[in-house]
Amino acid sequence: MAAAIDYRIARKRMVVEQLRSREIDDERVLGAFLDIPRHLFVDPAVRARAYEDSSFPIGYEQTISQPYTIAFMLQSMEIESRHRVLEIGTGSGYQSALLSLLAKEVYTIERITTLARKAEETLRKVKTGKIRLKAGDGSEGWKSYAPFDRIIVAAVMRERPLALLDQLCDGGKLIAPLAAGTECLVLYSRERGLIQEKRLQKCAFVPLKKGLAR
Ligand code: SAH
Repeated sequence: MAAAIDYRIARKRMVVEQLRSREIDDERVLGAFLDIPRHLFVDPAVRARAYEDSSFPIGYEQTISQPYTIAFMLQSMEIESRHRVLEIGTGSGYQSALLSLLAKEVYTIERITTLARKAEETLRKVKTGKIRLKAGDGSEGWKSYAPFDRIIVAAVMRERPLALLDQLCDGGKLIAPLAAGTECLVLYSRERGLIQEKRLQKCAFVPLKKGLAR
């Protein structure tokens, strides 16, 4: 019989080989990656490979993001433990779980109802912070809980996320992949009502779509 995989060791290796080695040095971010069991968020068929440097299909043409990409976004956002965070595109729920260890509260929206339900189920099995999840179109944000200190978008936007920027606190930051020519991660910061925009690095995400789907 094959030896059981020690997922804790696999997680440590992931943190050292994929994150620390690529300039992820925020200890809170690295700590969250050590704590959250990524193998519970992937399809059982690829569970043994859950800590590889890769994204994986999660059904409905969607993917769980590559650990490095998530780590880069989380580090760039400078999340503090008092922050309320909005996430658009729950997907598997993996990033929501990581966010919940860094922030005070996480609000996450997924447009594919079945994925939202599945993520909810997985998240129930994991020790996380406070997460509120809903199925819906996240491109308009979540008005009843706005404003947010941080907003993270996990699907590519075609244009500046104006509706979401409106739901950002003063001093807040929003990170989103934007397709303007090449796909690039953009960090928006709001200071005294003014929005600053910084292009960070190239990326590849699934597209942001409108409306709710089954
Ligand atoms: N970070 C996630 C990956 C998310 S993939 C993880 O680690 O699992 C992006 C997700 O965004 C997909 O599940 C897709 O269905 C969702 N999505 C796309 N457009 C959306 C929208 N308008 N509102 C909410 N979710 C959306």
